[in-house]
Amino acid sequence: MARLDADVLDQILTTLREYAEKNLPAQRLLEIEGGHEFPEKVMKDLYDPAQIGLHLLTVPEEHGGLGGGAYDIYRVSEAMASIDLGIATGVLATFLGTDPINVGGTPEQKADWLGELAEKGQLYAYGATEPQAGSDLSALTTAAMPVQEDGKVVGYRISGRKQWISNGGVADRYTILANAPGGPSWFLVDKGTEGFTTGKPEDKHGIRASNTAALFLENVYVPADRLIGGVEGKGLTQAQAVFGYTRLMVAAFGLGAGWEALRRAVRYSQERVQGGGPLSQKQGYTHKLIVPNAVRLEAARAYIEWVAERLDGGEEDLATEGAVAKYLATEAGNKAAEDAIQALGGYGYTREYMVEKIKRDVRITTIYEGTSEIMEWTIARNRWQLHLKSRGQYYLDWAARADEREKESPSVGSGLAAMALRSTAGLLERARLDRLTRNQHVLFRLGELIAYAETAAVFAERASTSPTKTSGLERGTLEAMARVHARDAALKVATEGLRWAIGAGQSDPGLAQALGLDGAVAGQAGLVCDMDRIAADLVRAFPAK
Ligand SMILES: Cc1cc2nc3c(=O)[nH]c(=O)nc-3n(C[C@H](O)[C@H](O)[C@H](O)COP(=O)(O)OP(=O)(O)OC[C@H]3O[C@@H](n4cnc5c(N)ncnc54)[C@H](O)[C@@H]3O)c2cc1C
Repeated sequence: MARLDADVLDQILTTLREYAEKNLPAQRLLEIEGGHEFPEKVMKDLYDPAQIGLHLLTVPEEHGGLGGGAYDIYRVSEAMASIDLGIATGVLATFLGTDPINVGGTPEQKADWLGELAEKGQLYAYGATEPQAGSDLSALTTAAMPVQEDGKVVGYRISGRKQWISNGGVADRYTILANAPGGPSWFLVDKGTEGFTTGKPEDKHGIRASNTAALFLENVYVPADRLIGGVEGKGLTQAQAVFGYTRLMVAAFGLGAGWEALRRAVRYSQERVQGGGPLSQKQGYTHKLIVPNAVRLEAARAYIEWVAERLDGGEEDLATEGAVAKYLATEAGNKAAEDAIQALGGYGYTREYMVEKIKRDVRITTIYEGTSEIMEWTIARNRWQLHLKSRGQYYLDWAARADEREKESPSVGSGLAAMALRSTAGLLERARLDRLTRNQHVLFRLGELIAYAETAAVFAERASTSPTKTSGLERGTLEAMARVHARDAALKVATEGLRWAIGAGQSDPGLAQALGLDGAVAGQAGLVCDMDRIAADLVRAFPAK
């Protein structure tokens, strides 16, 4: 897939930042969310090609768009989320709504519908979830009954209900997942079609600038050419195919919102004097509330960039990697925002300081586009298959590569990441021998540990070969962060792996040794020193205004 020229992407990001500075100051954002107002004018501006033209980002060039790739979507999604996650969700819903067309549409459908989107800047909504079908989409009951004329299907009548749909009450066009006789299939439905109505906006915990509403379809007629891809039964495969991208997008939301909260805390900590000095110089504060969050967020960024580059390089079937990115980045974003409230003390608890709003907003990211628990399950199930297929070699081979890297660049935590990967391999093998994954909890915990081990390896690799320039942090800071994250991963896999394996009745008396517990503990040497460095670097990178 194509990728935007770096200067085009920079221009979009700069325009977006300038637009937000001018039109969306904190006070205005608080007003929008306080009034539960859908910011129609903002959305129009964002989609106006003369201003920003965000809707063009995912539309291929041949249909009048910019033809952006996964990396571009990540950067724009992070930037949007650092402004307002509710507004970002309104934009995401159009990307999401058009994804079934991008992935599964016929050439004519793509030309017609994406061309029209590029020209008119329509808002889209993505209608998959139903009252009884959330994580388990196969339980969907919305039905599409074929209408035949002279023995030929000329259209469908769709009946059912969709729940929690972003842009649900405000979109111009909807992609709707419904059961046709051939199986779940996507259909394009226009606003105002007879029998199609929407519910009132939901009153939500956060992202109040986004419109979320139920959809009601009563015998809604669509012509046969509104069946996306023209063949019934491809719906779940198409939904699966977009996950690599859409989960990366939500991962970037977690990253953008989490960093926005943390940057505010880092700046605040330099001005707030308690106990005779600024909080930014108090280890008990920085090493608990700031540094671990910055590390997790940057580990997630490294992984997101790795996945984005692979997607842009034409790799398909990266649903597991998309799940790891979403899981780690959104959990990290939530924790960072939560800790930012604590870091600002009583001020953090008030609305004016914004971190309270960010915390409520970012909460959705571990729920929509697949909950964190479904991510854990997806990661564990898919990597379990790889472990079995490779006869236990998958993580051992990866660990060997990380060991090689440790020899070349001993300063980025590759050796510790190798420990985490080897420990993961040992744990999976023990789980196989003792059939531990009969316990769903053990399987899901494996998903979490795998996410830590993989992000440790990827962060270490990228810190040595291609450290990101996006975060505004220096190479040395990123290296220290990669070491801290790798230590965390090594210890986490060994200790929590042991805990759940023993808790589920494993049979190996030497498991602690097999999981490299002693090495993971010894590997913590230097941890506090690295954290000191990161705390000081963050102050330099994000000085008080
Ligand atoms: C603000 C908002 C916007 C949204 N936008 C859209 C949209 O635009 N389009 C769309 O189609 N949907 C949208 N959704 C729906 C969203 O994707 C779903 O809410 C989400 O997938 C979870 O489904 P659910 O709410 O039915 O929860 P459930 O699936 O019922 O899950 C409830 C809890 O049980 C856990 N759980 C579920 N299954 C299992 C299992 N097998 N084992 C263990 N634990 C399990 C979950 O992790 C979760 O913690 C939106 C939701 C919200 C709140």
